[in-house]
Amino acid sequence: HEKIHIIGGGMAGSEAAWQAAQAGVPVVLHEMRPEVGTFAHRTGSFAEMVCSNSFRSDDDERNAVGLLHWEMGAANGLIMETARAHRLPAGGALAVDRDPFAEAVTARLKAHPLISVEYGEITELPREGHWIVATGPLTSGALAQSIRAETGAESLAFFDAIAPIVYAESIDMSVAWRQSRYDKGETEEERTAYINCPMTKPQYEAFIDALLAADKTEFHEGETAGYFDGCLPIEVMAERGRETLRHGPMKPVGLTNAHKPEEKAYAVVQLRRDNQLGTLYNIVGFQTKMKYGAQTAVFKMIPGLENASFARLGGIHRNTFINSPRLLDNQMRLRSRPNIRFAGQVTGVEGYVESAAMGLLAGRMAAAEIRGETLPPPPPETATGALITHITGGAEAKTFQPMNVNFGLFPPIDAKGGRRGRKDRYKAYTDRAKDAFTQWLAAQ
Ligand code: FAD
Repeated sequence: HEKIHIIGGGMAGSEAAWQAAQAGVPVVLHEMRPEVGTFAHRTGSFAEMVCSNSFRSDDDERNAVGLLHWEMGAANGLIMETARAHRLPAGGALAVDRDPFAEAVTARLKAHPLISVEYGEITELPREGHWIVATGPLTSGALAQSIRAETGAESLAFFDAIAPIVYAESIDMSVAWRQSRYDKGETEEERTAYINCPMTKPQYEAFIDALLAADKTEFHEGETAGYFDGCLPIEVMAERGRETLRHGPMKPVGLTNAHKPEEKAYAVVQLRRDNQLGTLYNIVGFQTKMKYGAQTAVFKMIPGLENASFARLGGIHRNTFINSPRLLDNQMRLRSRPNIRFAGQVTGVEGYVESAAMGLLAGRMAAAEIRGETLPPPPPETATGALITHITGGAEAKTFQPMNVNFGLFPPIDAKGGRRGRKDRYKAYTDRAKDAFTQWLAAQ
């Protein structure tokens, strides 16, 4: 068989290498560490966990990350198997002893007869051969420039600017209403694309006070070096003047409160549809470096969001990622250069688990291609399938930002015969996913 070259021995590259080699295809794994480092990695091991030592919830019945664990386990994933072997007690979470975990992943890969390792930085997107780029959030500068030259500057970001994402069903629509500013749009769908939450003057003032007082996180040392191109957190906008937000993302113009048409809102928080299914909405312009606890407290002050549940909270981090909806086909190949696949966090998923899952898929797809087959992506009812469907098609290319796995990405399950409790509904999602994933595996 022809070889697959993988750039980056992180969560995604390690899993991709394992999957391809297990499918009988030889792999060369290229890793720049320890020769060239990043501000976050400390070791030369593969699959280093750069921050928390947790793979998050291990509940595969009612949690989307736990379901992803299950799917990777079912697909004989190296990362999951090794994580379980180095598990630390952590309640319902899958926490691991990070150094022995990373050393074990490294040893397993090096011992595989079909995997060879080449150390050193790859500085250009290769023209020939089968490649998987899995260089992660801290892709080296030279390679990032080469990717940018291929994709265009607007399709490769160096920072994410994540606005909090709310489950649509948890928004109080007796307070909020649907309307696009100035009713703009060709179709009814476009004219009602936003959900609006009105604020009175006292509510606005209290909200600004809470923003200013909230606990914030700082950038890591070295994180912004030579990069930060300034996407302002809302709390920084608020620091610049109490009225700044009211003239920026919270401006009330062009909107009429459907519940109280006679009352002019002092400020309006807008939420924009975040996926095709319409199950998720992001709070427009609300990227933030507030700590997670502070975010939920502050955002629940917004009228209509008092009982909001969040699919993810906001953040701004150093994060190299491509505009996958625009650039990748559903085989994770660069449309403009199909000899190159992308996998892991650089595709716009976020987190160790999601990145490893995208590595698993890329490794299997690349191996299938070399064997003259085509592996269809897993169905969107599965966690792996929901993620790949989101980044290669479901997400809006224009506003694409990295995504964690969550049930909002799955095709909804109708609550036929009365509203099921959320917990029962999540169980229905995971049952459906396990069946679909098992069938997908069996068809290979
Ligand atoms: P990585 O694991 O980063 O692997 C990429 C690999 O590519 C690295 O080994 C790197 O050395 C190598 N590489 C890069 N460029 C080149 C090149 N040109 N040539 C050769 N090799 C190259 N996720 C969580 O789930 N929980 C957290 O708490 C968390 N905290 C984080 C904190 C920070 C500061 C950062 C930066 C990220 C954090 N993440 C966290 C995200 C997490 O790091 C990623 O989700 C995950 O590691 C991504 O896997 P990956 O394989 O895509 O990238």
